[in-house]
Amino acid sequence: MLNEKVAKILYRIADYLEMEDNFFRVKAYHNAAHSVETLTKDIESIKEEGKLEEIPGVGKGIAEKIEEILDTGTTQDYEKLKKKYPVRFEELSSVEGIGPKTIKLLYKELGIRNLDDLEYQARENNIKKIKGMGEKKEKSFLENIEFARKFTSRSILGEVLPLAEEIKSRLIDLPQTDRVEIAGSIRRWKETVGDIDILVISEQPVEVMDYFVSMDIVGEIIVKGPAKSTVRLKKGIECDIRVFDEEVFGAALMYFTGSRELNVQMRKLSISQGLKLNEYGLFKKEKKVAGKTEKEIFQALKLDYIPPELRENRGELEAAKKREIPSLVKLEDIKGDLHLHSTWSDGTTSIANMVDQALKQGYQYVAFTEHTGSLKIANGMNEDRILKQVKAIDKINDDLQGFTILKGLEVNIDLEGKLDIRDEILEDMDLVLAAIHSGLSKGTIEMTQRIIEAMENEHVDIIAHPTGRKLQLRKEYDLNLNQIFEAAQETGTLLEVNSNPIRLDLRDLNIRRAIEHGCKLVLNTDAHSAIELNNIRYGVGTARRGWAQNKDIANTLPLKDFLKVLKN
Ligand SMILES: [Zn+2]
Ligand SMILES: [Zn+2]
Repeated sequence: MLNEKVAKILYRIADYLEMEDNFFRVKAYHNAAHSVETLTKDIESIKEEGKLEEIPGVGKGIAEKIEEILDTGTTQDYEKLKKKYPVRFEELSSVEGIGPKTIKLLYKELGIRNLDDLEYQARENNIKKIKGMGEKKEKSFLENIEFARKFTSRSILGEVLPLAEEIKSRLIDLPQTDRVEIAGSIRRWKETVGDIDILVISEQPVEVMDYFVSMDIVGEIIVKGPAKSTVRLKKGIECDIRVFDEEVFGAALMYFTGSRELNVQMRKLSISQGLKLNEYGLFKKEKKVAGKTEKEIFQALKLDYIPPELRENRGELEAAKKREIPSLVKLEDIKGDLHLHSTWSDGTTSIANMVDQALKQGYQYVAFTEHTGSLKIANGMNEDRILKQVKAIDKINDDLQGFTILKGLEVNIDLEGKLDIRDEILEDMDLVLAAIHSGLSKGTIEMTQRIIEAMENEHVDIIAHPTGRKLQLRKEYDLNLNQIFEAAQETGTLLEVNSNPIRLDLRDLNIRRAIEHGCKLVLNTDAHSAIELNNIRYGVGTARRGWAQNKDIANTLPLKDFLKVLKN
């Protein structure tokens, strides 16, 4: 997405300016980058309307830079800075203790440009010779390089959440804990996570900490104290645990849930009301007016309760002031899953076992949407087998009461936007998903046109994983999402929020934009085994981050009404 590209360059300019000791402008670029990153409107159209300077934090100077980026893909200043410091910024800054200033120092003194250079110079003991570095730093860089290689970015929520839940449930089982909550970006359902934050109410913190640091999943103890301990788990991620009194727990939970950006705004708002907010409570002078629960803090500040998924400083505080926080979709509102694979194509579980799991989750319907012909690696089905599966499903449906299996397909969109299954066959299916599985790296115009073509087919009900990204593996296709959203709205095609934690596609900001375009969404798991039906919670979390309500999501409807949303 263009917004993201622009934001990324602005962030990077801020980093370079920090290397140049230009602190005033660092902050300005940082603020502008954050604003652009969280815009729900397309930056190109804001530029065309001549309203760049209306973006919060964007003054005349930065507006000109944004224009330059939109016109040329970069800025002259940025290119100059890149030439001046030809370093792999993201790589180096992923090592603990290394920020822009250190990167500059390491480059100037030793010509270090990347992790390999850093490791070489540290092993040669050259880093400790630099003024201001020393032996301790050199040692810690070496220790952290391997870790940085493994985790040059954050971990995926789908890997971390189960770990955090495991720790939570073990702590709850202790007689010394009264309450245990997961905070941080996990509680906000952010798609990637830096570390695990756990908050505990306990009157015997020493015993709780003793237990925590000695768990079998702990690899290394970083700090241990009665109020706070930090460990690195064997799986590589750090986990912090903090113990609080019941009386301050709401304030602590709010503080450690973040986001940091929202916390800043909340503190400012408190000051404007003559109050002071920190992790111990909301105070008027020395007197505490709230803090036991998050709810009472929001109330005392005359705000709607802000659900954790919205706490990103993306307009939620203004909405809370106006009492306009939407009622977000909930897990229990989901009535069916419309994207399942069974052993008929590349799934590992039979239709019957998948249906058992769907019933356990309280669903009223599911759709099996196997891969089709041209996707050979996924055991794609030809027409003959499609018709066989239809019959098999009819038979299972006869034995089910109050539950319906819909007959669907996940057809492939080819390079011209055509589908690999004839319309005559599609016509007989209850539901058709279309998706791109090949030719992923064509240009924006071509990729966008392929998806629009598919949406114009009267049988295509849903576009599956619309942007094709895989977290930390594959970027989004080059798409003009505005055009996609407009076409989806006009053709009545549903857009999928694929709940597989590697995909989460559409992602949060795009969900919000799709909704603003009047699109309808559907939350699916794309499950290839029964257990993966549980992944729906990641889709719900992401949809909530995209401000989605039940009315935006077709599979919150009972079957009869859901079928009416489909094209025919
Ligand atoms: Zn697919
Ligand atoms: Zn699929």
